[in-house]
Order: sequence, then structure tokens, then C-alpha cells
Amino acid sequence: MTNKDLLKIAAQYGTPTYVYDADSIKTQYEKLTSSFHRSTRFFYACKALSNINILKYVNQLGGNLDCVSINEVKLGLRAGFEPKKILFTPNCVDLVEIEEAMSLKVHINIDNISILEQFGNKYGDSYPIFVRINPHIFAGGNYKISTGHIDSKFGISIHQLRHIERVMKTTNLNVEGLHMHTGSEIKDPDVFLQGLDIMFELAEHFPNLKYLDMGSGFKVPYQESDLETDVKVLGKKVEQAVSDFSKSSGKKFELWFEPGKFLVSKSGHFLVKTNVIKQTTATVFAGINSGFNHLIRPMFYDSYHIIENLSNPKGAERIYTVVGNICETDTFAWDRKLHEVREGDILVFRNAGAYGFEMSSNFNSRLKPAEVLFLDGKAHLIRTRDEFEDLLRNQIEVL
Ligand SMILES: *Cc1c(COP(=O)(O)O)cnc(C)c1O
Repeated sequence: MTNKDLLKIAAQYGTPTYVYDADSIKTQYEKLTSSFHRSTRFFYACKALSNINILKYVNQLGGNLDCVSINEVKLGLRAGFEPKKILFTPNCVDLVEIEEAMSLKVHINIDNISILEQFGNKYGDSYPIFVRINPHIFAGGNYKISTGHIDSKFGISIHQLRHIERVMKTTNLNVEGLHMHTGSEIKDPDVFLQGLDIMFELAEHFPNLKYLDMGSGFKVPYQESDLETDVKVLGKKVEQAVSDFSKSSGKKFELWFEPGKFLVSKSGHFLVKTNVIKQTTATVFAGINSGFNHLIRPMFYDSYHIIENLSNPKGAERIYTVVGNICETDTFAWDRKLHEVREGDILVFRNAGAYGFEMSSNFNSRLKPAEVLFLDGKAHLIRTRDEFEDLLRNQIEVL
């Protein structure tokens, strides 16, 4: 997909619009499958981007699905995933939501002792489960996106292993898998190996274990100087560690991963239009027809997205601060060199596939963007832009 294609899409469907390049998702998926042992399974963490067409596409590629809510599970089933290719990894849900997942026959991952006990008391060994462990590894780009550290709400602490065993023994729980997900944007492959070592140690406490799920956290480059997690190196190291362990223990496990960002981030291009150029005493603002209501990552995570001016690629470079149009400070980028931006120019945010549209809202009663899938050289509208009436949907006018 070229910049020309993007400009065409902007002209045809308007802005703001998220565009996803299917080829990029395929490339990333194949990068993973070719880097790891062929028995390794990849569960797309669909909270990154859950448009039904993206789910169907990942299903066509042969992927599995990681879901954090019952609705994601239902979307996955609707998209055609077989139940056994879906893992439900919720956090702080009640037993009712877990029971609904049981009725849908998907794999279930439990992440606290209370539910483990309730589940065990009611169902014993009649439905196999996963247990989510918090290994207390600090991993990931920063505190907001790290989930394995000591203060994290995720998982059951490895120090509570005795307690898990107690619940297992008294309720006859059938634990078929162990899970850990220590954070997002993990650069160092050794963090995964450290996690794997902990898994191996835990494995002997779970006699029915079949699956070791290492979660995700694969990093993608957001700026030119960033690196992507080297999955080739990681794949080799993991394969070695697993084969060493199988030899010494005589046990075999299937290894799972749950990439979100790694699969879809790069595929996403967020198209916006420049509404105004506003020169103040200190800076030149490029004010666009979007805001953190459409792409919250820069304000929420301090994340960096490359921005380019598609309409004036040969213009002289000038320095801009790119901001949105909502009544909040919604700075997308400070002091960016862009080819001269004129009012009406189309800008693109790169790497906007993951946690972009998915975290959008109607704040300021603004409409959510359209979504387009670029597949086999053709642009397909996969979500219409919100309309005014959408703002009133579910509201009950009592006055
Ligand atoms: C969010 C999440 C992922 C995906 O994380 P990425 O950084 O997008 O790869 C995987 N597993 C679980 C349980 C998650 O909550």
C-alpha cells in the first residue's frame, strides 16, 4: 500500500479514517510462525484491534485468538474461530462471565484465587482451565504497560503457589495450562527466557499441564531509531530452552504466545486533515480534525507516532506541534519536522493499528472515525464513520 493509495482513500472516504494494510498483518504473522518451532501457537490479542474483518483475516491466516472479555470471545466465534482456538483471559470478572465462556467451550484462564476456588467448588475437574501467574518480572516499556511487577493486579503471585495447590487438591481442579503476560514493548528476548524458566519450575506442580502460554509484549518500532523484538533470535533461544527442558524432565508442552501490537500496529495508518495552522508567540500548531478521542496513545502513554504530510511531500521542512480539535490538551507531537503543512493537507500517523481505533471514544460529542481495510490492492470500507444519530443511541429522552 502506497501513500498514493492512502490519499485516494482519504479522498473517497474522508477523514479521520483508520486504514489497515492486510499484507502487513500477514507479513508479521509469518515472521512469527517462521521464527518459532512449528508446534508453537499464536493467539492474536484482539483488544489491540477487534474489527470483525481483522478477526476473520487472522483466522484465515491460521491464527488463534486471545480475548479479555466475553464480548471479544463472541466476536471471535462470530468471525469463525473454533472455540478451541480461543483463549479467554479476563481480569477481575465474576464467575458468571467465566461460566458464559464455559458454555461457549473456549479455553479459560483464571487469574485470582477467589475465582479459582469458586470455580473448583462448583465444577471440579469437569472443565480444564489455565492459571495466570504473576512471575514478578518487571518487563515492558514503562509502569503503565508492565503487568508482571509486584504491584500489578494481574495474575496470581508465584509466591501463592502453595495456595493454588491447596485449591487444586481440595477441589480436584484440572489445570491444563499456565499463563504469564508480563507487559508490553519488551525489547530484551531474555525477559521471555526468564519467564520460561519460571514456567518450567512451576510445571512440576501441575500434573495435567499441556500448554505454556508466554503472553506477549513483542515490541514494534514506533520511531526510526526503535528496534523490533528480534523474534528470530527469540524463537531460536526459546526452542533451545524448551528442548533442553523436555530432555531433562521428559515432559512435553505446547508453547503459546499472544501477540497484539506485533501483528497489527504496523498495518495501521491513521489519516487526518489539517484544519488550521495557528502561529503563536512560541510555536506553530498544526490543528487537525481529530483528537485524543480518536488516538489516545500519545497523551496516555507518551507514545511516539511518526507523522507525515501526504499532501505536500516535497514541501520545505518546517517545525510543527500537531494538536487535535477537542477541548482538552491533546498534543499528538511536539516540535516535529514536517514538509510544509498547509490548511487542508492530509497527514498520516504511522503505526496506528494497535490500540488506536480500539481506544477511541465520543468525547466532546465528536464522531468516531471510519475504518478501511486494504486487501489485495483494493480498499474496503469496514466501518462507517459515526453519524450524529449515533451519539443519541441508547439515550432515553425523558424531558
Ligand atoms: C494486551 C494483552 C496482550 C497483547 O499485548 P501486546 O503488547 O499488544 O502484544 C497479550 N495477552 C494479554 C493477556 C493481554 O492482556
